[in-house]
Parts: sequence; C-alpha cells; structure tokens
Amino acid sequence: MTKQPLVVFEDVTKRYGTFTAVSPINLEIYKGEFLAIMGSSGCGKTTTLRMLAGLETPSDGEIRLAGKRINDLPTWQRDTPMVWQSLALFPFLTVRENIEFSLRMRGVERAERSARVDKWLDRMQITEFAERNVAHLSGGQRQRVALARSLVTEPEILLMDEPLSALDAHLKVRMQTVLSNLQRELGITFVYVTHSQSEAFSMADRVVIMSAGRVQQIGRPQEVYDRPASLFVATFIGAPPMNLFDVADVPVPAGTFPSSVATVGVRPEDIMLRTDVEGKGIRLDCSVSLVETLGADSVLHLRTVSQDGRPGLPVIARMGGNAREWEGRTMPIWLPPSRLHFFDQSGLRAEIPLSR
Ligand code: ATP
Repeated sequence: MTKQPLVVFEDVTKRYGTFTAVSPINLEIYKGEFLAIMGSSGCGKTTTLRMLAGLETPSDGEIRLAGKRINDLPTWQRDTPMVWQSLALFPFLTVRENIEFSLRMRGVERAERSARVDKWLDRMQITEFAERNVAHLSGGQRQRVALARSLVTEPEILLMDEPLSALDAHLKVRMQTVLSNLQRELGITFVYVTHSQSEAFSMADRVVIMSAGRVQQIGRPQEVYDRPASLFVATFIGAPPMNLFDVADVPVPAGTFPSSVATVGVRPEDIMLRTDVEGKGIRLDCSVSLVETLGADSVLHLRTVSQDGRPGLPVIARMGGNAREWEGRTMPIWLPPSRLHFFDQSGLRAEIPLSR
C-alpha cells in the first residue's frame, strides 16, 4: 500500500434542508487500501459513500479523486462502481449479460468484451452459470455476479454498501475471504460501508468510525480497539461492549486517578477471573447472575457485591472455556491496571500514566 491518497474529502458536508447528515468530514483514502466506514444506523456512512459515487452532491467542501475535484462530476463519468446490499442486478438478463453490461456502455468491442467477461466468470467461479438468468441463482452466486459486474471494467476503486448483509452467517464469512483475497490480488482501493464490526475488522486496513454525521476516529482496527478515542467508540467496538464505571464507584484509594478522569473502562475479555492473579489489579467481589457459554469461551454477567448495602454495579466478563459452574456463585474479579481505559468529563480518551 503506497501512502498516496487516491481520494480526499476536505471539509465535506451534506445537508438535507436544515438537517445535517454529514458534518465537515476530512478523510484521505489511500491507493490500494481496504477502508471500512462503520457506525450505527443513520450516522451518515451511506451518504458519505454516495457522495464519493456521485449519487449525492456535497453541500460544502471538496471531494478529489486522483487529485481532481469531482464534486460536480456525474456518476457515469467517475470510475467509482458500487456494489449494493440489494446488488441491483438486471433481473431479465443472464449472468453473462449482466457482467457485460458496463463494457457495452463503454463501447468495448465484442471480442474483448467476451474475453473480459470470461475472465471474470472464471475468477468468481461462476462460469457454469454464465447463461442462466440471475433470478435463478443463490444469494452467494448473485453476490459474485455483482462483484464481477463492477470489477470487469477494472476500476481503481470499488465502493460497497453493506454488500454481505443479506447473506447467512457461513456465506458471509466465505465472501469476506473472497473479498479480502480479491482486494489483495488486484491491489485496488475498496471502500466498504458496514455496521458490522466483524466484517470491518476482518478485512479492513483502516476503519472510520462515524456517529451522528461526524467522524469519531480513523485508524487501524487494532489501534481503534486498543485505544478508543471516545466513550462512543469504546462502546461501539467490542462485543460484549466495554464495561464503564463512574470513577467514584471504582474501589481505589483517593488520588489513584487524576481528577480529570470521569469514567474508567475495561473490556470484558481483559477482566481477570482466576484466583492466581490475586493482587494484580483492582479487586471487585461479584455475584454471577448468568453465564452464557459460546463454545470456545463464556460470557459472565456479574454484579458487584457492596459492603454497605448499595446496589451493585453490573459487570460483563469474558473468559476462555466453559464457566457455567460459576452461575449463582460469588467470585472475585480483578481489573488489570494496564488494561484500563480512561475518559474525561466530555467523554474523550484521557491518557493516564499509571505505574504498571
Ligand atoms: P444505515 O446504516 O441505516 O444505512 P447510514 O449511516 O448509512 O445508516 P445515511 O443513509 O447516510 O445513514 O443517512 C444519514 C442521515 O441522513 C439519516 O438520518 C437519514 O435519515 C438522512 N438522510 C439520508 N438521505 C436523506 C434524504 N434524501 N433526505 C433527507 N434525509 C436523508
């Protein structure tokens, strides 16, 4: 991946009447990278993608593709094909005709069209369905046709809006591998909108986390997971979500944390549950109300047991193996200092140097 921006969003805004769907967004998308745009429903991710595709015009700011302002360039003059959740294949055409369509529109002559379609039929392993009507294909097969149709023109960038959300869990995972391999082999830029963390994290080089029309954080998936920039990102990334405690509820000697800290967070998987770690963190005594066993690991729903009769705090922990035996019992847990996250009054990450 070369560090050369193929796409630049500079202070790009999108308003619908008085409603701001996308607040000024600044974003560089590099040549050859797999960028995922994530966020909850209505956060503006599809609008951002549609502006890049030319299906919406920015209200303010500038979008550049390969150094050229494209704000007002019609969608058919941009080389930014898009794959939708609905796929939008032509229902009365065969697989071959669907894939061939954009080549025809570009006036590519017959022999070359045929060779390129054959190549993509083969590459997507759908040659045997070439003459079949797309209505008579499975979801996964249709997905491959949609990809072939977009990639047959060999674009520099491919935009995808929730392309896998209609598929079942197994097919989704298989298609993630297909997409990752394709992107690496072709070296083209993928911009991928999803609400699914597992899709974004398994495929993307970088993720953009959006909320309420604003970019909350941009980074490599691991960076965003390890160092969420805000409470929003901390709870949006990770399942079950990060446990958050009001600093006053954390049983530590006064002055342990600086006064700027308002909230302390710890991920369920970072909580230590084994007695052999005693003394290695902040101890909380908890009752175990429910254990969900997931096969490789278990999710424990706990509540702190307070000495003074105050209602306990809910805590979720995740541990390897089957922890069913703990249901209904009381157990100590430890919050390791090196795995704590701190947030200030306004919900932004605070870096606290703690002695570890
Ligand atoms: P989802 O995951 O539900 O698709 P999203 O993050 O992709 O959500 P957008 O489709 O970008 O969200 O929409 C952002 C906001 O803009 C939403 O509140 C939506 O209702 C609003 N919006 C989108 N298109 C229009 C439009 N044409 N007119 C008015 N409001 C719109």
